[in-house]
Order: sequence, then C-alpha cells, then structure tokens
Amino acid sequence: MFVLKFGGTSVADQAAIVRLVDIVRAARQAAVAPENTDPRGPIVVVSALGGATDRLLGIAAEAGAGDADGARENVRLLLERYLLMAGVITDDGLREDVERYLGVEFGALARVVSALAVLKEVSPRWLDAIAAIGELASSRIVAAALESRGLAAAWVDARTVMVTTAEHTAAAPLMPETEARMTAVLVPLLAVRKIPVIGGFVGATADGVTTTLGRGGSDYSAAIVGACMGASEIQIWTDVDGMLTADPRLVPDAQLVPQLSFDEASELAYFGAKVLHPATILPAMAKNIPVRILNSRNPEARGTLITASRPSSGLPLTAVASKRNVTVVDISSTRMLMAHGFLHKLFGVFEHHATSVDIVTTSEVSVSVTVDDTRRLSRIIDDLRAFADVTRQDDMAALCVVGEGIQGDALFVSRLLQAIGPVPIRMLSQAAERRNITIVIPDSDLSGALTRVHAEFFRP
Ligand code: ADP
Ligand code: ASP
Ligand code: MG
Repeated sequence: MFVLKFGGTSVADQAAIVRLVDIVRAARQAAVAPENTDPRGPIVVVSALGGATDRLLGIAAEAGAGDADGARENVRLLLERYLLMAGVITDDGLREDVERYLGVEFGALARVVSALAVLKEVSPRWLDAIAAIGELASSRIVAAALESRGLAAAWVDARTVMVTTAEHTAAAPLMPETEARMTAVLVPLLAVRKIPVIGGFVGATADGVTTTLGRGGSDYSAAIVGACMGASEIQIWTDVDGMLTADPRLVPDAQLVPQLSFDEASELAYFGAKVLHPATILPAMAKNIPVRILNSRNPEARGTLITASRPSSGLPLTAVASKRNVTVVDISSTRMLMAHGFLHKLFGVFEHHATSVDIVTTSEVSVSVTVDDTRRLSRIIDDLRAFADVTRQDDMAALCVVGEGIQGDALFVSRLLQAIGPVPIRMLSQAAERRNITIVIPDSDLSGALTRVHAEFFRP
C-alpha cells in the first residue's frame, strides 16, 4: 500500500488538482491490479493550497498587531481562493457540502482574528489553530474532487488520527497513540476500498487541542502515516523532478539524483534541501519503507528513490545543500584551557533554554556552535557569560556537502576547499561517519561558493 503526499504546488490551482486526481487514479489502479497481493489504498496526504500557510500566518500577524480589518479582509480573500478551488468538484451536492464547510471554518476564523486583534496577542496555540485551516480545508476539497471524479475517497480529519505533544508550532508525534488511532480509523476505511484523504502538517494533542508539526511538516505527516500503516512506499509529489544536486533556485543547472540512502537524504534535508522536511526520513527509516520524490507536473519522470542503501554512483558527492540565517556563537573558557565539566555546563545552558545547536567545533580554549533558532539566544548568552567569554555573529550560512563517497576519497577536502575559493571559513566540521562536511561562511559568500563547489563536482 502506498502513501501519496501532495505539496502546496501540487494543489495550487484547479489544474494541479486535476493532475493529482489522475495520479491517485493510476495508483489506485495499480493497487487493485490482479497481481497485487495487498489491494488497498492509496492513502493521500495533502498540504494547504500553495502559499496558503504563509497567508494564514500573515493573517495571524495582522491580528496580533491589532489590524482587525486587514486580517478579516485577508480571511475573505483566502476563502475566495478556496471556494474557487472547490469548483474542481464536479458533483453539485459534494461541492455544496464543501462550500458550506469552508464557510463555517473561515467564518470561525474571521471571528477568532477579530477577537485576537482586540487582545493584540496571538499565542502559539492560536497560531496552530489558524494555520491548520489551510490543510483541513484543502484536504476536504481534494477528497470531494476525487469522489466526484469516480474515486471512492473518504476525508479524515487529521486531528482525529495524528496525536502529538503540546509543543505548539513544532509538535512531535506520539507514535504509539498515533498508530492506535490510525489503525482504528484508517484500517476500516481501507477495508471497504476507500481512499483516505488526510491534511498534512496538522495534529492534535491527546485531549484534542489543534497542533502543527512545523513548517514543511506535511512530508513528515506522510511518513508518519506510512510508518503507522506499514506502507510499502511513501511518495512525495512536489514541483521538481526529485532531489537535485543543489537547490535549483541557487544553482539553476542542478541535476537529478536518482537514488539516495536514508542517511544522505536526512543530512540533505536537515541542511536545507527543502524538498524534504528533515524529520521525514526517521519514520520511514524505522520501518524501512522506501521514499520516492516525484514531480506532479511531470509524473512520467522516475524521480528520486530513497532507501536504506544504494548502489554507488561512482561520484564522491551526492548533493550540496545550504542553510541561511545561521548564527555563530563563540564561547571561550575564561581560564587558559577548558576546565573539566566546561562542555557539560555549556551545553546545559542551551538545553535549559530548549535551543538546539547544529554544528559544533572546538579548540583547546573555545567552542563554536551554530544556532538556527535565535529566539532565546540573548538569554543563553547572558547565562554563558557567567563562566565564559561569548561573541555572536549573525548573517552566516552553512554549506553542506553530502555523499557516501566522501570517505573513500583522500583528496576530497583539498578539492572542496579549492573550489570554495577565497572565502573566510568560520567553521568546518566533518561528521564521524564522514558522509558530510559542513562549512560555515558569511552569507554574502554563499551563492558564489555554492556555484563553484557544484561546478567542480557535478560538471556535466
Ligand atoms: P512542496 O510544496 O511540494 O512541499 P517545497 O517548496 O516544500 O514543495 O519543496 C520543493 C522545493 O524545494 C523545490 O521547488 C526547490 O526549489 C526546493 N529545493 C531546495 N533544495 C532542493 C534540492 N536539493 N532538490 C530539489 N529541490 C530543492
Ligand atoms: N502547509 C505547511 C507549510 O507551508 C506544511 C507543508 O506544506 O508541508 O509549511
Ligand atoms: Mg514542502
């Protein structure tokens, strides 16, 4: 049984939803083909309409700033867009049901933002309630679109199956509870040959408070569904042909990577390959389920297949990724050398402020770390100053090269540094498994360095 996840661009307009229906139809036909021993599914996971989450968070920000009229006007415009999209539902009765649902949800949203604009404060809990509407509404439209075009679909409210922690805007799934709910809700639907359609990104705490898994989290939802339901493949349908050798927005001649290992894929996702949410691979890896990235605008292309191991490509590098908005924090021991317990104390401060560090390098007297989430950084620095000298540098970027072939190539690092060229390198780190090397440089040097590294290792 397959799980098919469609990202925002794959549901961005009516034509995209029609393509989605065709893709689901083909998957359905394959599932019920006589030679298939498990004629169930697929299960469909969908994102909000392209750009809708940004809009919803913008509306929340307007409400938080007290701009009730602006927020309500944008709610109205977004509802209009969703209603327009519902036009893709070819059955009048089904379409009217969905239109009613949209009216109710967006009506409630308009009242919520009016109230929040009076309070001028939007808590993370409200942010989640607001953002979730994007996926709840798009999944309703997609379920009815499938149904009206002859595919037996059943809409499933994600909040009834995805059980999460209460960490709003970045909730984590509670796997045993989620598996139990998914089994209870999805197995009976699949047994009567239905195609369940679930909004990605959205969940709820055990007592029913709406949560979200963090930006880009629909990929993660799909992998969680796949793992809980024992899927044989998780397909991520998006707007590029697969994982490319670099971010195509930064390196226009990036090429397709036909196969990746789970480890390579998670490193790339973690270091900025946005095509996959960084947590996606974990549930798939735990159950050894292949993940395939495919292009909904070019469904015939073979895409990228991600599995536990893959045949060698013969190249040292698989792909490069990068992350912007990185902050470097240098922490020097105020004694001559790092005292016993210094690292423990230092990381304890980050731990205490629930902030994770990404890249770490050390010397005899100092430690440098990078941080993505700087919301609590000033307080962290205050605490660190109790026992260390601390400096902070914003506007840095991390360039990460990933490849199973790095370890076998003695000249790799010199070739890499040569390609990066005359750029001040702030940090350099190589993981124990030698599958990746990460280099921290000024953000202003990123684009050039990325282009040169890509040209060096992926010259056509
Ligand atoms: P979706 O809405 O389908 O989830 P995303 O926008 O989240 O799509 O991810 C797809 C985008 O990721 C691509 O359009 C591309 O611009 C970007 N991207 C960044 N790095 C890579 C990479 N290495 N390979 C492919 N796409 C990448
Ligand atoms: N709609 C959410 C976002 O834009 C989740 C996703 O698309 O994966 O972040
Ligand atoms: Mg995405």
